[in-house]
Amino acid sequence: MGLLGNLRRRAGVGRGMTAEQSTARYPVTRTDEQWREQLTREEYQVLRQAGTERAWKGEYTDTETEGVYTCRACSAELFTSTEKFHSNCGWPSFYAPSADDGVELITDTSMGMRRVEVRCATCGSHLGHVFEGEGFPTPTDQRYCINSVSLQLRPAR
Ligand SMILES: [Zn+2]
Repeated sequence: MGLLGNLRRRAGVGRGMTAEQSTARYPVTRTDEQWREQLTREEYQVLRQAGTERAWKGEYTDTETEGVYTCRACSAELFTSTEKFHSNCGWPSFYAPSADDGVELITDTSMGMRRVEVRCATCGSHLGHVFEGEGFPTPTDQRYCINSVSLQLRPAR
């Protein structure tokens, strides 16, 4: 028993974890090298480095096609066309995620203001930010401002 306990302790907690290893809390994990191989340069910059695509340049900004929006990095379902609305902000906007546990919300103060970052709960990739109380006539008055390049639309058939 004592030996087993020692082995467990040595194999697990207590060793220094790198930033990369800390993403292991997500169901889908890849090394930075694997992400670079899998994603295009622009996808990598937004999804893995929390970048932002230029306003009005994303392919889904004003898309009204019915369907499901999945994560470009891991294919998990994130949003549907039902919650998409025109916010006139230059990025695809949704008033709610398709399921609350599909996204992870993280308070971000890095730009000198308090913003709430939206990440894919399955792979931890950056999707965009969520804002609320802007007065949009939607059921939640929230705006999930999401980069097109973080999404992949699967049109309904
Ligand atoms: Zn994902």
